[in-house]
Amino acid sequence: MTGHAALRGDFHVHSVFSDDAVSTPAENLAAAEAVGLSEVRFIDHVRLSTTWVPDFVSAVSSLAVPGSITVRTGVEAKLLDTHGTIDVPADLAGVDAIVIADHQFPAADGPWSPDAARARIADGLGATAALEQFVSASIAVMEEFGRRHPAFEPQLAHWFSILPKVGLSEDQLTDEQLERWARTAAETGTLIEVNEKWACPGPRAIRAALDAGARVVAATDSHVATEVGRYDRAARILEEAAA
Ligand SMILES: [Zn+2]
Ligand SMILES: [Zn+2]
Repeated sequence: MTGHAALRGDFHVHSVFSDDAVSTPAENLAAAEAVGLSEVRFIDHVRLSTTWVPDFVSAVSSLAVPGSITVRTGVEAKLLDTHGTIDVPADLAGVDAIVIADHQFPAADGPWSPDAARARIADGLGATAALEQFVSASIAVMEEFGRRHPAFEPQLAHWFSILPKVGLSEDQLTDEQLERWARTAAETGTLIEVNEKWACPGPRAIRAALDAGARVVAATDSHVATEVGRYDRAARILEEAAA
């Protein structure tokens, strides 16, 4: 395997514990070994009402892991609001990380669906204020994380993927906004994914993250074992960010 060292890891691998994924943790592990990965993080989608986390933890901990691979775990959960609240169940014992996802648009009063966010933006909020709302929510969740979830490692999943869904773009973020976002990630030890499936964050944001000293990891967001550790778009983003 060639390219950036991060590409030897895959920090976002889904299994059958997620409704929309089809491979077992054992199948994902075999795929990770076959493709030569040194690190994987198995994560599945949770919300407040999720009850299978103990089963997930025991399924992963019963795997026969080859010495060449480090296996980490996590749950993927959405950011709900601009105060930094994440949609997770109370019992996450045995899980290493909370992978925070921008599946909806965080607002002061809870998440807006992409359609609702589009309507608010068109209805007078405007692009500039919406972008700042999203950046402040991103910073709030990282700053609050250590106090609210001290036992877990924070990771941002496919950050900025919500922007095109609401008619905005990463390109509209100012350098200053990206620097604040990147600096907060570095200061709070928040991992930033370069996500293969969503091809985000883009090279400019990743360059800001690397310049700030944040840890950048590669992630396929695989929903089937054949996707584990296979990079194309993420490899190009990392390459461009380093250029
Ligand atoms: Zn996601
Ligand atoms: Zn995912």
